[in-house]
Amino acid sequence: NLKCGIVGLPNVGKSTFFNVLTKSQAAAENFPFCTIDPNESRVPVPDARWVYLCEHFKPVNKVPAYLNVVDIAGLVKGAHEGQGLGNAFLSHIRACDALFHMMRVFEDDEVTHIEGDIDPVRDMEIIYEELRLKDDETLNKVLLNLEKVAIRGSGDKSKKAEYDILKRVQHVLSDEKKAIRFGVWDAKEIEELNKHLFITAKPMIYLINMSEKDYCRKKNKWLPKIKEWVEAHDPGASIIPFSGALEMKLLEMDEAEAAEYCKGKNIQSNLEKIIVTGYKALQLIYFFTVGPDEVKAWTVQKNTKAPQAAGKIHTDFEKGFIMAEIMKYDDFKEAGSEAAVKAAGKYKQKGRDYVVEDGDIIHFKFNA
Ligand code: GDP
Repeated sequence: NLKCGIVGLPNVGKSTFFNVLTKSQAAAENFPFCTIDPNESRVPVPDARWVYLCEHFKPVNKVPAYLNVVDIAGLVKGAHEGQGLGNAFLSHIRACDALFHMMRVFEDDEVTHIEGDIDPVRDMEIIYEELRLKDDETLNKVLLNLEKVAIRGSGDKSKKAEYDILKRVQHVLSDEKKAIRFGVWDAKEIEELNKHLFITAKPMIYLINMSEKDYCRKKNKWLPKIKEWVEAHDPGASIIPFSGALEMKLLEMDEAEAAEYCKGKNIQSNLEKIIVTGYKALQLIYFFTVGPDEVKAWTVQKNTKAPQAAGKIHTDFEKGFIMAEIMKYDDFKEAGSEAAVKAAGKYKQKGRDYVVEDGDIIHFKFNA
């Protein structure tokens, strides 16, 4: 079960985001550390293809793909040394596979800023430093232990290779003072990195919490500075604007009212974009099974082969796997029915080595 965590300083709007995301009504209080326990929930991943398939088959059960989201409180300056909620938050971050990094550019005198004033670049630096120092500490411990066996001990070759890789990681973290994901790593190095759950190796998506006004006019003096910082520290990462104030407002309206409101201002909520981006960062894709009983999106990791994908549905499907019959979503939509896809020669039978692609509509054949 892969997860996306929400990190950021207190009072930047993490719980608000979590709440509007999950539509739960738990109140976000104007008080640092109010969200002590990590809140976790699953949110449906919006997808027009899934909606189309549901409309087409009108199934009894409709099951979308889900993204697991965790609200993580307690990250403040000095957290790596036990400030604030201290190290409690770390195990929660470690358990996540990607992170939403929420920062605040909205001004509101009623909402205290833990650092005194609004400065998202400083805030990003604080979070970045805390996470980097935490990884540095973790890495130093691992290296110290490895040193005993790899250098002074019997000279175990595999340990020596591990040691050398981690030394390169240490160079990035401690000397260059960069996040691990900033480095360029080959497959072997990535395998080694994956063993340790380093925080700064996780993909990060930057969310900017803006006032409704700024969100609507797509302007805020911090935006160019944030962009510049992210490009220098986390090249290629997504930056997505968000407005907690707007989202809270929309949540109180019914669907038609909300649509009307957004149309009037010529804006769109970014929640869907955030969910989809988070899901992609986890390297997840999904395939569909369809029929009158059920239309369902099944989540698998990228590069999953057909038998293992079948195993998601039932272990018997994997054990007795014969073949996967596949329609591409686009072919299905164009042709309009399974029969038409077959007539067009686009209904494919694939074997054990087939790597499942996002949006495949699959029917598995297996020996019971
Ligand atoms: P967290 O500590 O990061 O989880 O922050 P919260 O989500 O609890 O938000 C702290 C306070 O800021 C709450 O009172 C929210 O209602 C308020 N807040 C969140 N987003 C916005 C926003 O976009 N504009 C304004 N004015 N207030 C917001």
